[in-house]
Amino acid sequence: MGTALVTGASAGLGLEFAWQLATARHDVVLVARDEERLTHVAGQIEAAAGVRAEVLVADLTDRADLERVADRLRSDENPVGLLVNNAGLGLNQRFVGGDLTREEHALDLMVRAVMVLSHAAVPGMVERGRGAILNVGSIAALLASGTYSAHKAWVRSFTEGLAVELKGTGVTATVVSPGFVRTEFHERGRIDVSAYPDAAWLGAEHVVSSALADVRRGAVIATPSLRYRVLAGAARVAPRSAVRAVGRYRKALEDPTG
Ligand code: NAP
Repeated sequence: MGTALVTGASAGLGLEFAWQLATARHDVVLVARDEERLTHVAGQIEAAAGVRAEVLVADLTDRADLERVADRLRSDENPVGLLVNNAGLGLNQRFVGGDLTREEHALDLMVRAVMVLSHAAVPGMVERGRGAILNVGSIAALLASGTYSAHKAWVRSFTEGLAVELKGTGVTATVVSPGFVRTEFHERGRIDVSAYPDAAWLGAEHVVSSALADVRRGAVIATPSLRYRVLAGAARVAPRSAVRAVGRYRKALEDPTG
């Protein structure tokens, strides 16, 4: 796979992707907004794993910043063989009456950036006859949890379409759909998770190692952990009215007043 570019590499799953890929001897390009954190991580990775770690500070919702990352993906110098579209956030607001600017920000990050970066990365990979796109979706894609579900459903559907288009080129597309993972995601999004049982949580290390194993075997859909594979299977066969009822229950847990 060669060099891997990971978005959202300053924290959570992205940080874990960066470490596991570097440990597996891939040079890494680390993308996020927090320059201090990225520089610190890059230094640690270079010292511990002996690979090259480039830092690309970018706000992926900013069109000029996003274009700089796209340019890096188009570059033939130390070409990127694996793009991990991982950066994301939890909005934690109702759509009705919610702040539209925040909605657009989330859409730009979790949909537009994924599309633009994949569009930049794939042609070079196809020309080289090898490469992989790994998009971080969510089990929420199968549920009815507001616009976050819609964004992740787009990611899932987009990845499947891309996989169909790429068949026979040597380039693969995979979407990983984690359940709850202990990262900074919920704290940053001010999402109250106190009512969620311990059994609902996955470790970042397991999610990432399982996703990378699925990329290596060319899987299109990756759902780490048996419990979430069972849940995904149930969500696919259940009537959508039952899925919507779960959405209402979750909303009530997070916002008992609403
Ligand atoms: P996290 O710990 O909050 O990390 C989010 C990362 O995204 C950070 O590195 C952050 O870095 C980066 N980021 C946020 N906004 C950005 C922007 N505008 N431009 C560039 N980078 C930005 O969250 P996480 O749990 O690792 O989330 C990673 C992915 O997993 C997301 O796509 C999320 O939807 C998905 N996911 C998470 C869970 C979960 O339970 N945690 C479950 C299913 C799916 P900076 O702040 O430095 O920019």
